[in-house]
Amino acid sequence: MTAPESRPQAVPTKSSDPGLQSCHRVRHWLACGALLLSIAPSAFAWGDGGHRIVAKIADHYLTSSTRAAVNAMLANDSTGLTATDMASAASWADRYRNKHPETANWHFVDTEISDGDIDAACFGHPPLPLNTPASAGPATACVVDKVDQFTKELAAPQTTDAERLLALQFLLHFVGDLHQPLHASDSSDRGGNDKLVSAPGIAPGKLHSYWDTAFVKRLGSDTNTVASQLIGNITCDQAAIWQTRTPRDWSLEAFDIAKQDVYGKLPAPNSSGTYALSDDYVSTAQQDVALQLSRAGVRLAMVLNGANLKMLGATSPPGSTNPPGSTSPPGDGVLVWVNTKTGVYHCPGSAYYGNTQQGVYMYEDQAKAGGYRPAGGKTCSA
Ligand SMILES: [Zn+2]
Repeated sequence: MTAPESRPQAVPTKSSDPGLQSCHRVRHWLACGALLLSIAPSAFAWGDGGHRIVAKIADHYLTSSTRAAVNAMLANDSTGLTATDMASAASWADRYRNKHPETANWHFVDTEISDGDIDAACFGHPPLPLNTPASAGPATACVVDKVDQFTKELAAPQTTDAERLLALQFLLHFVGDLHQPLHASDSSDRGGNDKLVSAPGIAPGKLHSYWDTAFVKRLGSDTNTVASQLIGNITCDQAAIWQTRTPRDWSLEAFDIAKQDVYGKLPAPNSSGTYALSDDYVSTAQQDVALQLSRAGVRLAMVLNGANLKMLGATSPPGSTNPPGSTSPPGDGVLVWVNTKTGVYHCPGSAYYGNTQQGVYMYEDQAKAGGYRPAGGKTCSA
């Protein structure tokens, strides 16, 4: 879901109508139902289209306080790399990469189809050096770890305003990238960049760019319309299920799609080495892309809502005397840290808060609804 990925050559090998169906199983902030976005004409930006769609789907699921905080933060961006609305800013990390090649690896995880070893593809998960912001982390890091790092930073009270903005800008993009099957897999072909493909009605190109842009374009020529249609097809049950598990799991889910469909359904190359894709392949790919964009949008909203940006003072005017974290928007509850490995969640102030190897931030009522248990049996809001 980017412009054709410029991967370094030397990368280590490594639905139904939701209508008014019950949403009682979904967290209070998740506005299910077909509240269609207003449809305004917009040019389809090649390569950026997938990210715009993800951002627009996410926007639908944001709480009003999160949306206000996100917009206020983005308005402070002075890089000029993209417009500062959320849909445009979702491509900011691709523009940033042009001047910061050290961030190129952060856009994907080259899990090899032959072994499925995501840990090797993540370079063994090197930790951030002490006191190093995620935006200044080492070049050898995969998208899974960067999503984890920036999610923590976005929600951490001690993060500086400048770094929090960077965390937001990277997350707006990376959560989308993580869902592109060819940003989650590799078959010794640089994520499909080394394979030439053709299909009926589509100009010949690289397999990677077909999944980044050509199949997205087949969903429709206007990103607002496509996003509205996808939102209308997301059921409450789907949205609830998609919000479980971790970015690592989401990446492995995308990897499975790559294994089954992207590479699994690839025909043998013709005599000139080009893979001529059938109508069936294109049809399956369109369905996969629609599903992945939808998942990414719902999960991006979860990540942003979970950071409780308003509580962190992200919308406080300059000079505000309210210390960050001093207020909590009504109804949003306590932000807890869920250790997704053990199923136990930790309250703010705990030594484990934000500090277990695997985990996510979410509101306490989300955690309870998801079946997670409070550490020591003591709830945080009590
Ligand atoms: Zn990217």
